[in-house]
Amino acid sequence: MKMKKLVSLVLVAACTLSLAACGSKSEEASSSDEGKKETLVMATNAEFPPYEYYEGEEIVGIDAEIAAAIAEELGMELKIEDMAFDSIIGAVTSGKADIGAAGMTVTPEREESVAFTDTYAHATQVIIVKEDSEIAGPDDLTGKTVGVQLGTTGDIYAEDIEDVTVERYNKGFEAVQALTQGKIDAVVIDGQPAKEFVADAEGLKILDEAFTEEDYAIAVAKDNTELVEKINDALAKLKESGKLDEIVAKYISADDAE
Ligand code: GLN
Repeated sequence: MKMKKLVSLVLVAACTLSLAACGSKSEEASSSDEGKKETLVMATNAEFPPYEYYEGEEIVGIDAEIAAAIAEELGMELKIEDMAFDSIIGAVTSGKADIGAAGMTVTPEREESVAFTDTYAHATQVIIVKEDSEIAGPDDLTGKTVGVQLGTTGDIYAEDIEDVTVERYNKGFEAVQALTQGKIDAVVIDGQPAKEFVADAEGLKILDEAFTEEDYAIAVAKDNTELVEKINDALAKLKESGKLDEIVAKYISADDAE
Protein backbone atom coordinates (compact mmCIF):
# COMPACT_ATOMS: atom_id res chain seq x y z
CA MET A 1 0.00 0.00 0.00
CA LYS A 2 2.68 2.39 1.03
CA MET A 3 4.55 1.67 -2.15
CA LYS A 4 1.46 2.35 -4.29
CA LYS A 5 0.95 5.70 -2.63
CA LEU A 6 4.53 6.63 -3.31
CA VAL A 7 4.25 5.61 -6.95
CA SER A 8 1.13 7.67 -7.47
CA LEU A 9 2.76 10.63 -5.76
CA VAL A 10 5.71 10.35 -8.09
CA LEU A 11 3.31 10.11 -11.02
CA VAL A 12 1.44 13.21 -9.91
CA ALA A 13 4.75 15.02 -9.58
CA ALA A 14 5.80 13.89 -13.04
CA CYS A 15 2.51 15.01 -14.50
CA THR A 16 2.80 18.36 -12.85
CA LEU A 17 6.30 18.84 -14.20
CA SER A 18 5.49 17.72 -17.70
CA LEU A 19 1.91 17.82 -18.92
CA ALA A 20 2.86 16.23 -22.22
CA ALA A 21 4.15 13.13 -20.43
CA CYS A 22 0.67 12.20 -19.17
CA GLY A 23 -1.88 11.35 -21.80
CA SER A 24 -5.00 12.18 -19.87
CA LYS A 25 -3.58 15.42 -18.51
CA SER A 26 -2.47 16.71 -21.87
CA GLU A 27 -5.92 16.00 -23.30
CA GLU A 28 -7.41 18.00 -20.49
CA ALA A 29 -4.98 20.79 -21.13
CA SER A 30 -5.84 21.07 -24.81
CA SER A 31 -9.57 21.05 -24.21
CA SER A 32 -9.29 23.72 -21.51
CA ASP A 33 -6.99 25.75 -23.81
CA GLU A 34 -9.85 25.95 -26.28
CA GLY A 35 -12.08 27.36 -23.62
CA LYS A 36 -9.43 29.91 -22.75
CA LYS A 37 -9.24 31.91 -25.94
CA GLU A 38 -7.46 35.22 -25.62
CA THR A 39 -9.89 38.10 -25.28
CA LEU A 40 -10.04 41.01 -27.70
CA VAL A 41 -11.52 43.92 -25.79
CA MET A 42 -13.37 46.44 -27.94
CA ALA A 43 -14.23 49.89 -26.62
CA THR A 44 -17.28 51.48 -28.19
CA ASN A 45 -20.16 53.84 -27.60
CA ALA A 46 -23.32 51.90 -28.27
CA GLU A 47 -25.42 54.95 -29.16
CA PHE A 48 -24.57 55.00 -32.82
CA PRO A 49 -26.95 52.96 -34.99
CA PRO A 50 -26.43 51.15 -37.33
CA TYR A 51 -22.77 50.77 -36.26
CA GLU A 52 -23.34 50.00 -32.57
CA TYR A 53 -26.49 50.05 -30.50
CA TYR A 54 -28.39 47.95 -28.00
CA GLU A 55 -30.85 45.29 -28.98
CA GLY A 56 -32.13 44.34 -25.56
CA GLU A 57 -29.05 43.66 -23.47
CA GLU A 58 -26.84 42.95 -26.44
CA ILE A 59 -24.68 45.39 -28.38
CA VAL A 60 -25.20 44.78 -32.09
CA GLY A 61 -24.40 46.64 -35.31
CA ILE A 62 -21.86 46.81 -38.11
CA ASP A 63 -18.84 47.45 -35.86
CA ALA A 64 -19.87 44.76 -33.38
CA GLU A 65 -20.16 42.21 -36.19
CA ILE A 66 -16.97 43.27 -37.98
CA ALA A 67 -15.07 43.08 -34.68
CA ALA A 68 -16.56 39.64 -33.97
CA ALA A 69 -15.49 38.46 -37.44
CA ILE A 70 -11.97 39.86 -36.88
CA ALA A 71 -11.76 38.17 -33.47
CA GLU A 72 -12.77 34.91 -35.09
CA GLU A 73 -10.03 35.28 -37.72
CA LEU A 74 -7.57 35.92 -34.90
CA GLY A 75 -8.82 32.96 -32.85
CA MET A 76 -9.83 35.34 -30.07
CA GLU A 77 -12.97 36.00 -28.13
CA LEU A 78 -14.58 39.43 -28.47
CA LYS A 79 -15.62 41.40 -25.40
CA ILE A 80 -17.40 44.73 -25.93
CA GLU A 81 -17.09 47.55 -23.40
CA ASP A 82 -19.60 50.37 -23.73
CA MET A 83 -18.42 53.87 -22.73
CA ALA A 84 -18.71 57.55 -23.65
CA PHE A 85 -17.37 58.22 -27.14
CA ASP A 86 -14.72 60.61 -25.86
CA SER A 87 -13.35 57.92 -23.48
CA ILE A 88 -12.57 55.41 -26.23
CA ILE A 89 -9.15 56.73 -27.29
CA GLY A 90 -8.07 56.88 -23.62
CA ALA A 91 -9.22 53.29 -23.10
CA VAL A 92 -7.08 52.19 -26.05
CA THR A 93 -3.97 54.19 -25.10
CA SER A 94 -4.15 53.00 -21.46
CA GLY A 95 -4.55 49.35 -22.48
CA LYS A 96 -8.01 49.05 -20.91
CA ALA A 97 -9.20 48.07 -24.38
CA ASP A 98 -7.33 46.46 -27.27
CA ILE A 99 -9.32 48.20 -29.97
CA GLY A 100 -11.68 51.14 -30.38
CA ALA A 101 -14.40 50.41 -32.93
CA ALA A 102 -17.07 53.07 -32.91
CA GLY A 103 -17.64 54.46 -36.37
CA MET A 104 -14.47 56.32 -35.56
CA THR A 105 -13.20 58.71 -38.19
CA VAL A 106 -9.50 58.77 -38.94
CA THR A 107 -8.22 62.27 -38.15
CA PRO A 108 -4.65 63.62 -37.93
CA GLU A 109 -5.26 64.66 -34.29
CA ARG A 110 -6.34 61.16 -33.28
CA GLU A 111 -3.40 59.69 -35.18
CA GLU A 112 -1.15 61.48 -32.72
CA SER A 113 -2.54 59.28 -29.89
CA VAL A 114 -3.50 56.00 -31.58
CA ALA A 115 -2.72 53.90 -34.64
CA PHE A 116 -5.53 53.21 -37.11
CA THR A 117 -6.11 50.05 -39.11
CA ASP A 118 -7.08 50.20 -42.78
CA THR A 119 -10.40 51.91 -43.26
CA TYR A 120 -13.56 49.80 -43.58
CA ALA A 121 -16.29 52.37 -44.29
CA HIS A 122 -16.77 55.71 -45.96
CA ALA A 123 -18.92 58.25 -44.17
CA THR A 124 -20.11 61.84 -44.23
CA GLN A 125 -21.08 64.42 -41.67
CA VAL A 126 -24.56 65.69 -42.48
CA ILE A 127 -26.76 68.49 -41.23
CA ILE A 128 -30.17 67.72 -39.72
CA VAL A 129 -32.71 70.55 -39.49
CA LYS A 130 -36.45 70.94 -38.97
CA GLU A 131 -38.48 70.37 -42.12
CA ASP A 132 -39.46 74.04 -42.32
CA SER A 133 -35.96 75.38 -41.52
CA GLU A 134 -34.44 78.20 -43.56
CA ILE A 135 -31.05 76.48 -43.24
CA ALA A 136 -30.29 74.94 -46.64
CA GLY A 137 -26.56 74.21 -46.46
CA PRO A 138 -23.40 74.51 -44.34
CA ASP A 139 -23.05 78.26 -45.08
CA ASP A 140 -26.40 78.97 -43.43
CA LEU A 141 -25.11 77.66 -40.09
CA THR A 142 -23.28 80.94 -39.41
CA GLY A 143 -24.58 82.49 -36.21
CA LYS A 144 -26.73 79.45 -35.40
CA THR A 145 -26.86 77.02 -32.48
CA VAL A 146 -25.62 73.62 -33.59
CA GLY A 147 -25.93 70.39 -31.61
CA VAL A 148 -23.26 67.68 -31.77
CA GLN A 149 -22.13 64.58 -29.93
CA LEU A 150 -19.30 65.42 -27.56
CA GLY A 151 -15.81 64.73 -28.92
CA THR A 152 -16.91 63.61 -32.38
CA THR A 153 -15.77 64.98 -35.71
CA GLY A 154 -19.15 66.76 -35.88
CA ASP A 155 -18.07 68.59 -32.72
CA ILE A 156 -14.67 69.47 -34.22
CA TYR A 157 -16.11 70.76 -37.52
CA ALA A 158 -19.01 72.64 -35.94
CA GLU A 159 -16.44 74.64 -33.96
CA ASP A 160 -15.09 76.06 -37.21
CA ILE A 161 -18.41 77.55 -38.28
CA GLU A 162 -18.36 81.33 -37.96
CA ASP A 163 -20.14 82.84 -35.01
CA VAL A 164 -21.61 79.48 -34.02
CA THR A 165 -22.84 78.27 -30.63
CA VAL A 166 -22.03 74.57 -30.21
CA GLU A 167 -24.22 72.53 -27.85
CA ARG A 168 -22.56 69.24 -26.90
CA TYR A 169 -24.53 66.11 -25.96
CA ASN A 170 -23.35 62.73 -24.70
CA LYS A 171 -25.51 60.93 -27.22
CA GLY A 172 -26.28 61.91 -30.81
CA PHE A 173 -29.88 60.99 -30.12
CA GLU A 174 -30.06 63.66 -27.40
CA ALA A 175 -28.90 66.31 -29.88
CA VAL A 176 -31.66 65.25 -32.27
CA GLN A 177 -34.20 65.41 -29.45
CA ALA A 178 -33.09 68.96 -28.61
CA LEU A 179 -33.62 69.88 -32.27
CA THR A 180 -37.13 68.43 -32.26
CA GLN A 181 -37.86 70.46 -29.14
CA GLY A 182 -36.64 73.64 -30.86
CA LYS A 183 -33.75 74.16 -28.43
CA ILE A 184 -31.14 74.24 -31.21
CA ASP A 185 -31.18 75.07 -34.95
CA ALA A 186 -29.35 72.09 -36.43
CA VAL A 187 -27.41 68.90 -35.65
CA VAL A 188 -24.14 67.92 -37.32
CA ILE A 189 -23.67 64.16 -37.14
CA ASP A 190 -22.60 61.11 -39.18
CA GLY A 191 -24.86 60.28 -42.12
CA GLN A 192 -26.01 56.77 -41.21
CA PRO A 193 -27.04 57.44 -37.59
CA ALA A 194 -28.65 60.66 -38.86
CA LYS A 195 -30.91 58.58 -41.11
CA GLU A 196 -31.91 56.34 -38.21
CA PHE A 197 -32.58 59.23 -35.82
CA VAL A 198 -34.57 61.23 -38.40
CA ALA A 199 -36.66 58.18 -39.34
CA ASP A 200 -37.63 57.83 -35.67
CA ALA A 201 -38.42 61.54 -35.18
CA GLU A 202 -41.18 63.85 -36.41
CA GLY A 203 -40.65 66.83 -38.71
CA LEU A 204 -36.91 66.60 -39.34
CA LYS A 205 -34.89 66.33 -42.55
CA ILE A 206 -31.29 65.79 -43.62
CA LEU A 207 -29.83 68.40 -45.97
CA ASP A 208 -28.57 67.08 -49.31
CA GLU A 209 -25.25 68.86 -49.09
CA ALA A 210 -22.91 66.86 -46.86
CA PHE A 211 -20.72 68.74 -44.44
CA THR A 212 -17.56 66.60 -44.77
CA GLU A 213 -16.37 63.27 -46.16
CA GLU A 214 -14.53 60.88 -43.89
CA ASP A 215 -13.44 57.27 -43.34
CA TYR A 216 -13.87 54.94 -40.40
CA ALA A 217 -11.12 52.71 -39.02
CA ILE A 218 -10.34 50.76 -35.87
CA ALA A 219 -8.09 52.41 -33.29
CA VAL A 220 -5.25 50.40 -31.73
CA ALA A 221 -2.49 51.41 -29.27
CA LYS A 222 0.33 53.11 -31.13
CA ASP A 223 3.01 50.61 -30.12
CA ASN A 224 0.89 47.57 -31.00
CA THR A 225 1.86 47.32 -34.67
CA GLU A 226 1.47 43.54 -34.47
CA LEU A 227 -2.25 43.85 -33.73
CA VAL A 228 -2.71 46.50 -36.45
CA GLU A 229 -1.15 44.12 -38.98
CA LYS A 230 -3.22 41.16 -37.81
CA ILE A 231 -6.43 43.20 -38.02
CA ASN A 232 -5.49 44.52 -41.47
CA ASP A 233 -4.94 40.95 -42.67
CA ALA A 234 -8.28 39.90 -41.19
CA LEU A 235 -10.03 42.92 -42.74
CA ALA A 236 -8.51 42.12 -46.14
CA LYS A 237 -9.86 38.58 -45.88
CA LEU A 238 -13.29 39.80 -44.85
CA LYS A 239 -13.34 42.24 -47.77
CA GLU A 240 -12.22 39.60 -50.23
CA SER A 241 -14.65 36.94 -49.07
CA GLY A 242 -17.57 39.37 -49.25
CA LYS A 243 -18.26 38.95 -45.52
CA LEU A 244 -17.74 42.67 -44.85
CA ASP A 245 -20.27 43.67 -47.53
CA GLU A 246 -22.64 41.07 -46.14
CA ILE A 247 -22.44 42.60 -42.65
CA VAL A 248 -22.96 46.14 -44.00
CA ALA A 249 -25.90 45.02 -46.19
CA LYS A 250 -27.56 43.52 -43.13
CA TYR A 251 -27.76 46.96 -41.55
CA ILE A 252 -27.78 49.44 -44.47
CA SER A 253 -29.92 48.99 -47.57
CA ALA A 254 -28.04 49.50 -50.86
CA ASP A 255 -30.02 52.72 -51.65
CA ASP A 256 -28.87 54.24 -48.39
CA ALA A 257 -25.18 53.36 -48.72
CA GLU A 258 -22.74 56.26 -48.90
N1 GLN B 1 -17.42 59.47 -36.87
C1 GLN B 1 -17.51 60.36 -35.77
C2 GLN B 1 -16.19 60.50 -35.09
O1 GLN B 1 -15.34 59.70 -35.27
C3 GLN B 1 -18.59 59.97 -34.76
C4 GLN B 1 -18.42 58.62 -34.16
C5 GLN B 1 -19.41 58.30 -33.05
O2 GLN B 1 -20.15 59.14 -32.56
N2 GLN B 1 -19.45 57.08 -32.63
O3 GLN B 1 -15.98 61.38 -34.33
